Amino acid sequence: MTKFIFVTGGVMSAIGKGVTTASLGKLFQFRNYDVSAIKIDPYLNVDPGTLNPIEHGEVFITEEVWDFVPSMGPNRKDDIDDLNTAYGKKQVYRICEIDQDFGTYERFLDKNLHPSSNITSGQVYLSVILQERYGEYLGRTVQIIPHVTDEIKRRIRQIAEKDNSDVVITEIGGTVGDIEAMPYLEAVRQFRLEEPKENTALVHVTLIPYSEAVGELKTKPTQHSVKTLLSLGLQPDIIIGRAKIELTEQVRQKISLYCNVPVQGVISNPELSIIYELPLIFEKFNLGTYLIHDLLQMVPPKPDISKWEELIEKYKNPKHSLKIAMPGKYTLITDSYVSINEALKHAAAHLDSKIKIEWIDAEPFEKDRSKVSVLSGYDGILMTPGFGERGVEGMILAARHAIQAKIPFLGICYGAQILFCAFCREFLGLDKAASTEFVPETCDPVVDLLPEQKKIKDKGGTMRLGGQEIYFKEGSILHDVYEVPKAVERFRHRYHIITRYAEEAQQKGLVISSYDKTGTIINSIEYVKDGNWMIGVQFHPEYKSRPARPSPVYLAFVKKCLEKKIQSS
Ligand code: GLN
Repeated sequence: MTKFIFVTGGVMSAIGKGVTTASLGKLFQFRNYDVSAIKIDPYLNVDPGTLNPIEHGEVFITEEVWDFVPSMGPNRKDDIDDLNTAYGKKQVYRICEIDQDFGTYERFLDKNLHPSSNITSGQVYLSVILQERYGEYLGRTVQIIPHVTDEIKRRIRQIAEKDNSDVVITEIGGTVGDIEAMPYLEAVRQFRLEEPKENTALVHVTLIPYSEAVGELKTKPTQHSVKTLLSLGLQPDIIIGRAKIELTEQVRQKISLYCNVPVQGVISNPELSIIYELPLIFEKFNLGTYLIHDLLQMVPPKPDISKWEELIEKYKNPKHSLKIAMPGKYTLITDSYVSINEALKHAAAHLDSKIKIEWIDAEPFEKDRSKVSVLSGYDGILMTPGFGERGVEGMILAARHAIQAKIPFLGICYGAQILFCAFCREFLGLDKAASTEFVPETCDPVVDLLPEQKKIKDKGGTMRLGGQEIYFKEGSILHDVYEVPKAVERFRHRYHIITRYAEEAQQKGLVISSYDKTGTIINSIEYVKDGNWMIGVQFHPEYKSRPARPSPVYLAFVKKCLEKKIQSS
């Protein structure tokens, strides 16, 4: 029988609810249980693929693509193909662009999650409204309670059934009190009523601010957020307090008293330099035993935390340190590329190193080319994924500088396309080489739309998405580092490097190191010659990098940066 944990947030957002949720999952894994995670995003977008990464953070890409058919309610089991012909293509939505918290879940739990695990209000309301049109609720007034809340509970139970795991942890995005989140909290209340008491637990993650003036942690905001929860019929079983410092005994007692939670259930979530350490902090507070044994009444074996402890030790004791530049186009929030940041850290830790990432706005290079030399002060350059035209000339200048100054270089997706433009300008004499994404009328479209993309107008879920097979060329660096002839990596793009130009570039030392299954889409290029080490991948290896299993591409890149640094010192 599956157990259900619900995680809500109090006081404010961005207090590490995702890391907390993933760390709760780890407590079960330490005891050999199977864990699944759900994230609820109360916004009306069907998926986050159409959201701005500056505002919302990274879009995570799953391996699998989910064909979401909103009109397919519990009583409607038509064939997807029939629906497509009967009602047009809008019957099926392709989803594999999901919330960045899934990156955290996958990294902590070392497990691929299904895109249907990200429930958004867009999906829920679309389903309810379309099902109404098909007569699912004939004769009845369709309402938030029970129809929307039923749909939410159905989705949660559906995932539990599909995954058949011992525990499903559901994180509810946003903060308690948000209007959008109300139907979800109501669904949780109903869910807890429907299940036996020992089958569910409610964990409230909240901020405990530190007052510098009085030198004290303040519990009042938490008391208020728990009151809001109570007014919705929800009593938390556990309160996890995010604070600058570890919660003192006195603070825990106070929260316990005012929020009606036994003191064993009041847990500290201090700021950590290595986020992967959080499950160990939870163990230190005996949260595993309290949650799994006392509340959920499971009979767990003794937890085995030794492997995770070893891993954390590795992260904590670096011998070398590296400085990587990420020339990009926006003023980023650090979350915009969280999977890339983590993938770099994973690779570094495995090479006994620590990485310092510096985001560099490439736009000023366009006005003053001499500024690009700032990049020479770094051990490596990672050129990021992206969209659109702003700042792109500055990024091309940065890539050309990397060629000239022989700085180890890794380009991801857009970053690979930019590397290719830079290569064509530098070595093929094509001064105007560009992607039609940023110069639609260019005379040398060295990067252009994928053929099947040319007729697509709708924006949501229409890119080339998800896990795809990659075939490596023997003798290439990629073939070498993957140690297998083919691999699956995750994609999210509309444009690709044009073969005709890439073949010309081969005469100047460029290697096309992999293709897709059909042999028509270039998946990666490399220029490893005369002291240059430059790799561009059309895919996103960062999505599959895990703390104990770094991505082979990132590992090769960081290794090269380290070699170079050691050589030149
Ligand atoms: N904008 C480019 C494309 O659509 C790159 C996308 C990306 O970096 N993910 O092909």
